[in-house]
Amino acid sequence: MRKISEKAAAMAAMGPLFACPVCQAALAVDGLGLTCENGHRYDLAKKGTVNFLNKPVATEYLAPMLAARRRLLDAGLFEPFLAPIRAQLSAADRFLDIGCGEGTPTAALATSGATGVGFDISAPAIQLAGGLSTSAVFCVADLARLPFLPGSFSAIVDLFSPGAYAEFDRVLQQGGRLFKVIPDSDYLRELRQGLYHDTDKATYSNAEVKARFSVHYPQTTVTKIAYDFPLTKSQFADLMAMTPLTWQAPADRRAAMLEHPPVSIHVAVELLQVNNSAKEG
Ligand SMILES: [Zn+2]
Repeated sequence: MRKISEKAAAMAAMGPLFACPVCQAALAVDGLGLTCENGHRYDLAKKGTVNFLNKPVATEYLAPMLAARRRLLDAGLFEPFLAPIRAQLSAADRFLDIGCGEGTPTAALATSGATGVGFDISAPAIQLAGGLSTSAVFCVADLARLPFLPGSFSAIVDLFSPGAYAEFDRVLQQGGRLFKVIPDSDYLRELRQGLYHDTDKATYSNAEVKARFSVHYPQTTVTKIAYDFPLTKSQFADLMAMTPLTWQAPADRRAAMLEHPPVSIHVAVELLQVNNSAKEG
C-alpha cells in the first residue's frame, strides 16, 4: 500500500482523535484527508503526514541539522532514557510525543506496540518523520492549540520540549500518564565547558522548569539518568549541528572542538513521571 493510504487507514483505525483547529469539531478520515462536520479539510501529504497550521512557521530546525539529529538518534544517543519509557507502554496505550522533531524517538517508543502520534511545529521535521518506517503517525501542529479531542491519549511523552500543561491535561485521559525528560545540570557538559567556559552559559540549572512542573503535578516522581555516549569525530560534528546550545558559540571555540573532539559526551537527564494525572473536578 502507498504510504499515504497506509497512514490514512491508520488514522481511520484510531477512531475519533483529531480535532479541527478552526472549529474544534471532530475530524474524520475522508479519502486521503480529514474533514469536520463544518467542511474544514486537511489533506494528507505524500508521506501521510498532516499539516494543521494555517500558515508555515519559520523554525531554526533546518534540513542539515535534522539529518545530523537523525544519524545520532539512530546510533542510540537517547536510547538509555527512551528504554524505561518504552517499557511502560503497551499495545493498550495511545501516546502523544510532544515536539517530536524528525520522529526517531516516536518510532522507537511505538515499537512497544502502543499507538503513537507525534507532532512538531517544524514542517521540515515532520516531512522527515513521514519517511520513517513506523506505525506512528505525524502532524504539524502548535503546542498551544493541540489538534486533538479531549481525553485522546493514555500517555504523553515530552522529550526536551516546553510544556503546555493545560493542553496536556485536556488531551490526556483521566488518570493518564505523563513522561517529561529535561536536561540535568551536566547535560552535554563537554560542549558547555568547551564552548562557554568563563561565561554564564557554562552552567545550567533545570530548577525553574522542575518547579513549574511540580506545582502543576505534585505527584511527580523524578529519576536521574546519566551516561557517557561514545562519539566518533563525525558523530561529534553531528552533535554540534543538532544542538541549539552550540549555535551561538564563538566560532574559534567551535572550530577548536571540531578539530579535537571529546571521545564521548555526557548525557544527564531527569525523567519526571506522573502516573495518574487525574484532577479533582
Ligand atoms: Zn472545522
